[in-house]
Amino acid sequence: MATLGIPQNTIEVLQKYRFNFQKKFGQNFLIDTHVLEKIMDAAEITKEDCVVEIGPGIGTMTQYLAERAKEVVAVEIDKNLIPILQDTLQEYDNVTIINDDILRVDINRLVQEKNNGRPVKIVANLPYYITTPIIMGLFENHVPLKSITVMVQKEVADRIRVGPGTKDYGALSLAVQYYAKPEIVANVPPNCFIPRPGVGSAVIRLTCHETCPVSVRDEKFMFSMIRAAFNQRRKTLLNGLSNAGELGLSKEKIREALDKMNLPPTIRGEELTLEQFAALADILL
Ligand code: SAM
Repeated sequence: MATLGIPQNTIEVLQKYRFNFQKKFGQNFLIDTHVLEKIMDAAEITKEDCVVEIGPGIGTMTQYLAERAKEVVAVEIDKNLIPILQDTLQEYDNVTIINDDILRVDINRLVQEKNNGRPVKIVANLPYYITTPIIMGLFENHVPLKSITVMVQKEVADRIRVGPGTKDYGALSLAVQYYAKPEIVANVPPNCFIPRPGVGSAVIRLTCHETCPVSVRDEKFMFSMIRAAFNQRRKTLLNGLSNAGELGLSKEKIREALDKMNLPPTIRGEELTLEQFAALADILL
């Protein structure tokens, strides 16, 4: 089977199967071999690696992964793509295709079955409409991971990697940075895909921390607090947290905690670092 990263080969496969793109599945297939090589290099795929690919499409990146990894498990929701994948990946005996919704797959079980529970690498050109639930699901379910190297919308990549005091800083930045070190590996323009997406894209690598850089007594409570702080971004942290009924925190208690941390009562959530959110959560718990 010819390399699919080359546009002509992709078009031939699409025509052969009369494939109709489904917008609802975020289908924008990669047709740029340089970008594919860059993703492989960033993910540092070797014959030791078991890789989980989310949304293989017609198998373009899967071919690259199958050449380099020990084992590839590719989860694709669109049943119309399954016969195509069986064709384009027929020469690889280290690829398993699963026809399912990644948000419904028990990835911990998959890692247990395919890699004896040892950490896997996630590599994907993600369906953009579910980027956040996919990434957060992997972290919150404590899937054993080495790294996540994924194509996402450029704006989301920016939100993931920024720190306090910037307009993009928010709950997603803090959540990802709690679990991993983010780096943007490449910016990718719309003409590297078929069909072209209406937004710019970027490849981001999240290298999972071996031990969390921040310790907190109750992770869940801290993240509920962070969500509350950014739900009402323009409000002070004091008002944001006291307005969030589910936290059950009085204004007085929050004011005392801020005071203990030498933070003014007028401070906004977007000014706090992850370490400060963790310390505040430990005081307020
Ligand atoms: N990897 C291919 C490529 O780079 O050419 C396709 C990438 S395309 C951006 C996203 C892929 O994810 C599509 O094949 C789409 O059908 C699939 N997809 C969308 N939602 C999904 C879900 N919930 N679970 C698994 N796959 C999904």
